[in-house]
Amino acid sequence: MSTSPSRPRPSGPPIVIAHRGASGYLPEHTLVAKAYAHALGADFLEQDVVLTRDGVPVVFHDLVLEEVTDVAERFPARRRADGHWYVIDFDYRELSTLAVRERIAAGGALAYPGRFAERLPLRIQTLADELAFVRGLNASTGRRAGVYTEVKSPAFHRAAGLDPSPLVVRTLAQFGYRGRDDGAYLQCFDAGELARIRFELGCDLKLVQLIGENDWNESDTDYDDLRTAAGLRRIAAFADAIGPWIPHVVRWPAAGAAPQFTSLVADAHAAGLAVHPYTLRLDQLPEHARDADAVQRALFDGAGVDGLFTDFCDATLRFLGRR
Ligand code: CA
Repeated sequence: MSTSPSRPRPSGPPIVIAHRGASGYLPEHTLVAKAYAHALGADFLEQDVVLTRDGVPVVFHDLVLEEVTDVAERFPARRRADGHWYVIDFDYRELSTLAVRERIAAGGALAYPGRFAERLPLRIQTLADELAFVRGLNASTGRRAGVYTEVKSPAFHRAAGLDPSPLVVRTLAQFGYRGRDDGAYLQCFDAGELARIRFELGCDLKLVQLIGENDWNESDTDYDDLRTAAGLRRIAAFADAIGPWIPHVVRWPAAGAAPQFTSLVADAHAAGLAVHPYTLRLDQLPEHARDADAVQRALFDGAGVDGLFTDFCDATLRFLGRR
């Protein structure tokens, strides 16, 4: 940790990634949330992808349905013994009838109080439908937003007999996302899977190694090791960028204290990797951070990150002088 900033970004202005759409304002991953993010001016719209029982890639963050849909009321008998309703237990035809709503925490209150509280017939869409939606918006507005797609939990899917990565890569290719200049990133927490996507599946998109904490159990990947300079050089053999958690880049040790920077951004840049941390939320700031602009100043001006996942893309664009 140090208070001295990292070296500057290697190239280009930072990119603004609408995390699950304009999810600060509308339920995550709905098409209205994607349309609003596009209209606000986000550079990239994020898709998390999981598979249905019949192997359809759908845009959905969780492996389970109950926090952001009405599945508990619609399909009470389909709950597993562990208390969850799994996406992978439903065919797409069934999933497409669920109503998507803002995330609910234990006890039934909004997970982010103050966000969109209405219950409306918003739906889960396939990855293909979302890519068509983005293509249509890019054409009708004349402003090209890119896509930033994540393969969720490949090992979980394989244990259930499904293999998401080839389906995701093929679907992206069908919409013209084939190479590094096609306006798409493909991200995954699982380092082995990302290397497989590059070398076995022959994917030429920009690949992003997401970096979590080992106790999140996202995959077998050892994130403590990946965050070292040697680990980052290994990532650079197959990936173009990393997506760390904001506290991997900068922390505030106490209220009112100066930000403390890690060497992660400098080490990543030295390895040739861009850095796109997650996630700026105006209603859930990093611990002890004073306000959103203090966080963005530390990330963009202090650490020199190359992009940011944000639930509030307008606030990030405004910080960057683009709104
Ligand atoms: Ca994601």
